[in-house]
Amino acid sequence: MKSKFILSIFGIVCAISVFAQDANNIQMPELLQNQSRKTINIPDILGYQTLKCDFHMHTIFSDGIVWPTFRVNEAWNEGLDVIAITDHIEGNPSRKHVGGDNNSAFEIAKVRAREKNIILIHAGEITRSMPPGHFNALFLDDTNALNKQDWHEAFDEAKKQGAYIIWNHPGWKAQQPDTTKWWDIHTELYEKGMIHAIEVFNEKEWYPIALDWCVNKDLAFFATSDIHGIVSEMYDLKKYHRPMTLVLAKERTENAIREALFANRTIAWYGNYLAGKEEYLKAFFEAAVEVQLYEKVKKGKIYIIKNNSDVPFEMQTLEDSDFTIPANGETIVTLPDKSKSSFSVKNLFIAGTENLVVALKLK
Ligand SMILES: [Zn+2]
Ligand SMILES: [Zn+2]
Repeated sequence: MKSKFILSIFGIVCAISVFAQDANNIQMPELLQNQSRKTINIPDILGYQTLKCDFHMHTIFSDGIVWPTFRVNEAWNEGLDVIAITDHIEGNPSRKHVGGDNNSAFEIAKVRAREKNIILIHAGEITRSMPPGHFNALFLDDTNALNKQDWHEAFDEAKKQGAYIIWNHPGWKAQQPDTTKWWDIHTELYEKGMIHAIEVFNEKEWYPIALDWCVNKDLAFFATSDIHGIVSEMYDLKKYHRPMTLVLAKERTENAIREALFANRTIAWYGNYLAGKEEYLKAFFEAAVEVQLYEKVKKGKIYIIKNNSDVPFEMQTLEDSDFTIPANGETIVTLPDKSKSSFSVKNLFIAGTENLVVALKLK
């Protein structure tokens, strides 16, 4: 009798302990990914903040496959500061399914951008056959107003709205299969102040000749993803960041970005390559690299060289003793006393076929 009583007490306790768990809904947050933002390690230079920007991407409001808020989440996860959603202005294959107009992607994404501290630039892509080709217009008030039959009118409207205009993928083989050519129409647009920058890199290709155009015509260097799908599916993010344009801005605001762009303070970053004006690449290199003399030996001197940035530097010497200063790492090199004091950095381009030349300065 006593044991029966104990058993039944035991039964009640078991039942209570089972029911202590909520039978309706048990949360398992351990299954979820940590919502953390990646840090992109690059130096601020020349008194400016170096902002990480991707000014070319698509959503379901043109021929992309994602909803606009997804572009903001993606940019936040990957450590960017600034994005522009640049859906094609003329013709949207998804319109009959999703409705909306040329301003919809910006309006939908801007709330999420504010929540995530991402600066979202109102923009659109003028999409024409070559010439003139495709152009992104940034800092628009009303993208719908650029939807014109005649492309000249689209450019006039962009200029009227104070837009910053970038010639996109000039060497895209679908439009320039043999030669990446600058047409007379581009001279006309350039002289009217309707081209401010060129994508020297787009998606997964770059156009060395366009670097020369940037140098000779004093245009800003841009690198963009032009992503239509999902960045983490498209790019090998374990090895590289997505392609981006670094903007040297006085502060982290839309107005400061506009000022920096119109002043050509950009660096294109794609894979392990940087392309831009010599003064900016030199400042970048010098801010990232620290050189210490380790010891003197018979053959010359041994140096410890550190790199505090996500960009490796591939150094070329005249003595065939090339070496790499790894990203976020260090190397030890012996350089002969007669070694030339300047080095060519093979992955930093100041023109189509010209590398940055640097001296290793002791710190
Ligand atoms: Zn395009
Ligand atoms: Zn595009």
